[in-house]
Amino acid sequence: MEAGIVGLPNVGKSTLFNALTSSQGAQSANYPFCTIEPNEGIVSVPDGRLHEITQYIKPKKVIPAILKLVDIAGIVKGASEGQGLGNKFLSHIREVDAIIQVVRCFEDPDVIHVEGQVDPVADMETIETELMLSDIDTLENALPKAQRSARGGDKEAKLRVSVIETCMKHLAEDKPLRTLELGEPERKAISSYGLMTAKPILYIANVDENDLEGKCEHVQNVRVYADQRGTDVVPVCAKLEAEIAELDEEDRQEMLGSVGLSEPALHQVARAAYHTLGLQSYFTAGEQEVRAWTTPVGATAPEAAGVIHSDMQRGFIRAEVYTLDDLHAHGSEKDIRDAGKLRIEGKSYTVQDGDICHFRFSV
Ligand code: GDP
Repeated sequence: MEAGIVGLPNVGKSTLFNALTSSQGAQSANYPFCTIEPNEGIVSVPDGRLHEITQYIKPKKVIPAILKLVDIAGIVKGASEGQGLGNKFLSHIREVDAIIQVVRCFEDPDVIHVEGQVDPVADMETIETELMLSDIDTLENALPKAQRSARGGDKEAKLRVSVIETCMKHLAEDKPLRTLELGEPERKAISSYGLMTAKPILYIANVDENDLEGKCEHVQNVRVYADQRGTDVVPVCAKLEAEIAELDEEDRQEMLGSVGLSEPALHQVARAAYHTLGLQSYFTAGEQEVRAWTTPVGATAPEAAGVIHSDMQRGFIRAEVYTLDDLHAHGSEKDIRDAGKLRIEGKSYTVQDGDICHFRFSV
């Protein structure tokens, strides 16, 4: 699962990406189009439950869940027609599972805004429009081919034609595809097109250093826009987060305290991105390691086991499951078992967020 960071040039994408991944790889310079090659990075998803588990089970290692991020360079008006480095960036967005859009809410006369003024709602509309235009383009190109196959009697192609037409109608009404409800077969029929406005989106409001909670009018406007679309907004000061990310643990706590934050805002970003992607974590806990694993919400026990190793999915026998509450109540896995609280779950079990699992499998 990976999320792509997008936005207009100079809104703080590279700064945020660097802070998130603590990688020095992505360039951050005060001019548009500086980030030409898309950069990838890994972020861990902070989860307090890992810490709670290790109060009872003392492992050698604790391994959090991770997310892959791609820093996709700036999109400008006209990107769908090849403006800026438009097409190249858009093709990168087609490949990610979710979009994280950074919107500039900070004022800084030293940092040029491509449209001349800070107006986050206009920026969000610009990008939404470019992505919609690009999706229309993709669908217009795909339609004749699907129609030819449909005329040749291909049943799947018939479905594809009808879904393409539904999507085009929706886009013509100026609505992104993520607001169009499709069944599973319909979704599958068009999945290979990488339609961008069908991808879940998360907005990061890049705020001023003196407005960390995002109280200014710009952020309020972003919230209204996002609320209407049922998407999340996380206020972050990318510049401050970049500085915090470079500190060692002790200085970091001091710095956070001095600006009144309980944790880096980046933790919130990672969790919100996870949520936007429709992901959840289950845990495995033993003396070697306590570890969070990522599954889509709704994954079955064999699917969840398959995240660890495909052999475990193929040879799945059963899952032995308990929760953090069980651990709090009984203190160890053995005591949970002795109390008859260890659940035995089969192939059809839907793994729940926070389950602590042991998988039994044959090879
Ligand atoms: P990108 O083009 O969207 O990747 O933007 P960059 O991350 O390269 O940032 C562009 C400029 O804005 C750089 O000079 C950053 O230092 C500056 N910048 C980024 N975030 C902030 C912020 O939160 N506040 C202020 N004042 N400047 C920022």
